[in-house]
Amino acid sequence: MSFDTVVGHADARAAIERSIVTGRLAHAYLFVGDDGIGKRTLAIAVARALVCERRGEFGDHVNACGKCGACIRVARDSHPDVLVSRFDAAAGSVKVGDIRAMEEFLQRTALEGGYKVLVVDGAEEMTDAAANAFLKTLEEPPPHSLLILVAQSTSTLPSTVASRCQVIRLRGLDEVDVRRVLVEQASVPDDEATALAAASGGSPGRALALRGVDVLAEAAALTREIVSPSRDSIEAAAAWYRCVRESNKVTYNQASARLRALLLLAVHAVRGSLRRSLGLPGDGLLREETAAVSAVRAQAVLQTLLATLECLDKKAHLELLLEDLFLRSRIDVAGSDVPIPLNNAWEAVEI
Ligand SMILES: [Zn+2]
Repeated sequence: MSFDTVVGHADARAAIERSIVTGRLAHAYLFVGDDGIGKRTLAIAVARALVCERRGEFGDHVNACGKCGACIRVARDSHPDVLVSRFDAAAGSVKVGDIRAMEEFLQRTALEGGYKVLVVDGAEEMTDAAANAFLKTLEEPPPHSLLILVAQSTSTLPSTVASRCQVIRLRGLDEVDVRRVLVEQASVPDDEATALAAASGGSPGRALALRGVDVLAEAAALTREIVSPSRDSIEAAAAWYRCVRESNKVTYNQASARLRALLLLAVHAVRGSLRRSLGLPGDGLLREETAAVSAVRAQAVLQTLLATLECLDKKAHLELLLEDLFLRSRIDVAGSDVPIPLNNAWEAVEI
């Protein structure tokens, strides 16, 4: 994949491209953004653009040919001047020993005479001791070396590390771009890609993690239950909690991601219904489930769904959140316009 073919992130790409073309590349970048939106992909594309043997043949544009020996070696993770370190919680933290290995890599003379690029994915997993050991390298990296740290947010990294990097914030992709990534890079069939993209919240990685779950069927059932409540809200909440949690092996984050996907699809369905009732073209997803919903009802349900998603971002207790969602749906059906306040005490509750 060349720099130009990275999907989305146009602003970030343009900023880095300008820096490369004008010779003002920072010595250390920190790419931050949600899980699965392509931060590491962009970092590797930058590395490839810097080591491509045909670098400089693309006029004012920064690109990599994707075909030369250097490009192929980067793709195979075997280029001697590009080191991609991946860390995740399951693999353990970034320790001082790991930092030493990275420093040794940067100290070696570039074998191919150009840039050396170190990508540290999962940089938030750095222990304090590792971060301290890394500071000197961040302050004075060897010449012709580029460091790209990748993390979900600046707040998850020691401030001493974040403050020494040029921070580039990456946002989620548009749905059409997520769909493109799924179809072109992961060979997901068209229909499935449309549903997964709508459920992804802008993250191809999250969309791919949902493969194997029939999110559309689950979202259809959830949408029906919200727009036309037919059972006690506690019973409904317990059933849907069991659905997204499945077993004790499913972590809070995994269950939360599945619920988010279902809620995003329900938002699609209800927003589509609202748009159609206003004479505007609406989303085709889950059209049947909302066919009989009035515009007033759709608007109320939409607000409830959006408030629920906001609470999910704050790591709300899932079962209580579901109970609140179904309770609000029922009260709305009964014609009451008294909103139930969201319980702020739910914030930051971890299961
Ligand atoms: Zn090349």
